[in-house]
Amino acid sequence: MAILDFLFQPKNELEEGGRSALPAQADESEPEKVCPNCHKSIPLSRIWAEQNLCSCGYHFRMNARQRLAITADAGTFAPLFDEVSSSDPLSFPGYRKKLETTQVSSRENEAVICGTARIEGEECCLFIMEPYFMMGSMGSAVGERITRLFEYATERRLPVVGFTVSGGARMQEGLVSLMQMAKTSAAVRRHSDAGLFYLTVLTDPTTGGVTASFAMEGDIILAEPGAVVGFAGARVIEQTTRKALPKGFQTAEFLLDHGFIDAIAPRRTQKKLISQLLSMHREARDNG
Ligand SMILES: [Zn+2]
Repeated sequence: MAILDFLFQPKNELEEGGRSALPAQADESEPEKVCPNCHKSIPLSRIWAEQNLCSCGYHFRMNARQRLAITADAGTFAPLFDEVSSSDPLSFPGYRKKLETTQVSSRENEAVICGTARIEGEECCLFIMEPYFMMGSMGSAVGERITRLFEYATERRLPVVGFTVSGGARMQEGLVSLMQMAKTSAAVRRHSDAGLFYLTVLTDPTTGGVTASFAMEGDIILAEPGAVVGFAGARVIEQTTRKALPKGFQTAEFLLDHGFIDAIAPRRTQKKLISQLLSMHREARDNG
């Protein structure tokens, strides 16, 4: 694995937890992205400098290292379980090659990063899923890392904060990936039974086996505005039930209205909110 180590170094100051090293002003040749909400074209560097937010409030997807940089206090993240990597239990055609190319393109060695960190001074275990690694799909390595993180947190009596983004179970690992739902859920339960706090932030999209396991098992469940959160896709449900789905179905706002999540957490105020919740539960634990 040492040969791949250089790939996983932070790419810039932003990833190390510092401020963005990217220019705030774009040059004319810079690639732009169109906001799906207000349809404005925005230079990529401006999007990155603004926490991947459009001025209209639209939340663009962000990679795990960017999220880490805006969430954890600078220099406090200590990675855990990086050595846990995917095998190819079914010898699924093309899977090994796909893993290799995805590791190079995403500069991550799996679809989740785990570790310990402080968030506005509050110590916690932290996992952040990576949308640019096979759409955050949950294979055996993702399940194992998250399970170990909960075990680590239980032993050390730490809360867990998790950011989810996932297309669901990783089909290339078949049943082995489905087993991760039970494995992670058991670890979450043991953490909960020890009286410890678990907070999830659902980001766009959180679906399939991840929704059906650790994403929805938080004591407090937050979601980013507009995030799609569901189990099966809306089209599949519509085709199966042969009924039109209500407007806004499977969005964070719809879920809030129907009692599935506790609050919408816009990115700009997320860190503050998470640290407040961590602080409240730490005080309750200290006093209890
Ligand atoms: Zn916009």
